[in-house]
Amino acid sequence: MDVRTKCTSEEPLESLGQDLPAGSHRLLQFTNCRLVRGHQIIHEDLWVRDGRIVNPEPVFFDEQAKAHCRIDCGGAIIAPGYIDLQINGGYGVDFSYDTETIEEGVATVARGLVKSGVTSFCPTLVTSPNDSYHTILPRIPAEVPKGAGILGIHAEGPFINPQKKGAHPEHCIQTIDKGLSTLKDTYGSLERIKIITLAPEKVTDPEVIGQLVERGITVALGHSMASLSDGERAVQQGATLITHLFNAMLPFHHRDPGLVGLLASDAVPHGRTVYFGIISDGVHTHPAALRIAYRTHPQGLILVTDAISALGLEEGVHHIGQLPLQVKQGKAFIAGTETLCGSIAPMDECVRIFQKATDCSVVYAIEAATLHPAQCLKIDHQKGTLDFGSDADFILLDDQLRVLSTWIAGVCVHRTAK
Ligand code: ZN
Repeated sequence: MDVRTKCTSEEPLESLGQDLPAGSHRLLQFTNCRLVRGHQIIHEDLWVRDGRIVNPEPVFFDEQAKAHCRIDCGGAIIAPGYIDLQINGGYGVDFSYDTETIEEGVATVARGLVKSGVTSFCPTLVTSPNDSYHTILPRIPAEVPKGAGILGIHAEGPFINPQKKGAHPEHCIQTIDKGLSTLKDTYGSLERIKIITLAPEKVTDPEVIGQLVERGITVALGHSMASLSDGERAVQQGATLITHLFNAMLPFHHRDPGLVGLLASDAVPHGRTVYFGIISDGVHTHPAALRIAYRTHPQGLILVTDAISALGLEEGVHHIGQLPLQVKQGKAFIAGTETLCGSIAPMDECVRIFQKATDCSVVYAIEAATLHPAQCLKIDHQKGTLDFGSDADFILLDDQLRVLSTWIAGVCVHRTAK
């Protein structure tokens, strides 16, 4: 067997270990690095085989195996890959509107996202007509070669409150009036759905949330006028996530703090965590609001981009969707106006903005985009950590948390040009 023991970072990383005979179990050793593991940064090597992170001890002692390839990381931080639970599109693609070309659209975004360190995501559909769901959902690719993994769809709507519709089309908003069968009729199938954002006050059947959770769907509360007690009831029925905290919900009020109050509720069932997505793009959530959320309920905080189609596009005017968009100084406006039309900050930037705004530890900022979303979806045995046995989805970061390279299942899918 061709055994190379030293690979420099100058070598094309894409080919690392790929020259071994098919079927052999390539063992990669990432060295001269710091790992984000067990809520801290540790000086240890990372070992990867067959797309998984492996425990080196049994490999040395029981198998007497040596690395086929040793990769010098130049002192970089190795973190789990970022997980984005809410993203509407990017690179000129809008998942909700580019119905006919959805396969290519999802593939384009999946391959673009790896540049920002995202290794898995939930393509998010805003409130849409039933036909769109029926067309899009069965066509979402299960995986995209060299692209971020697809965890399932986040259906944001259509069971939301029209009074908090935000950019969702009002005529497509629905009410759950026949229990689970309303959801099946609307989406066509629940197969590919991982998260449903709904307004709890639009759910009259107390069984529905529990039935969705039983099917492995995460129920998120948002685009809602819910009082705190509406929110608590939904959480007791099984909801575990709040969608883009502070946005499209009642503002915090001391006599009824609304969904925001769930961060400090004493009616959450024992042992359960209420997670919340938060947009830290420097625009949609004030730094003080980020700090309030962080200090109140740190273990539930999940960074989401909520990015729109203009994510990843150059400065200038772009004709996508119904209105022309203009990208100016890293923000997206309706062309010719000062009206912001959505977030375009990539996840790595959200992590950096969040870390700076809250002065939290580097490890915590990373966990808010890795461990927490994985825990929320109950996939933390597989993703969101560098624990032994996890998928080898990880990123190399410099000390400013800039992405140096992105790896999925142990294969380099992106390296930032120097
Ligand atoms: Zn929204």
